[in-house]
Amino acid sequence: MKAHVMHELSVAQEIIGIVQENLPDGNTHCVKAVKLKIGKLTNILPDSLTFCFEALTKDTALDGAQLDIQHIPITLQCNGCRVVSEIEGFIFACPSCGSADIKTIAGDELQVSEIEISD
Ligand SMILES: [Zn+2]
Repeated sequence: MKAHVMHELSVAQEIIGIVQENLPDGNTHCVKAVKLKIGKLTNILPDSLTFCFEALTKDTALDGAQLDIQHIPITLQCNGCRVVSEIEGFIFACPSCGSADIKTIAGDELQVSEIEISD
């Protein structure tokens, strides 16, 4: 449990770093929203992430910014039958032929996709 909170905390710090790097000079702007793409494989709990983000951004240019999280499902491609499947949960076999010879083609994203700034 503690390890998990640490995970979200470091992710929140990383996101804040990315946003700050992308802010216009002067840092006088307020960030309204940060859009994120988070793959299910990252195992991030959105509630914990939001909690850490809010705690870390108090009294900064990001204070009050909304985290807008877009969840990316896990997508696999089978090296055997070539079928591409979106899966729920963590089943790492091809749903079409049952082969374990698969590769992940989506679901491990952790990206800031958009930063909304108010002026
Ligand atoms: Zn297959």
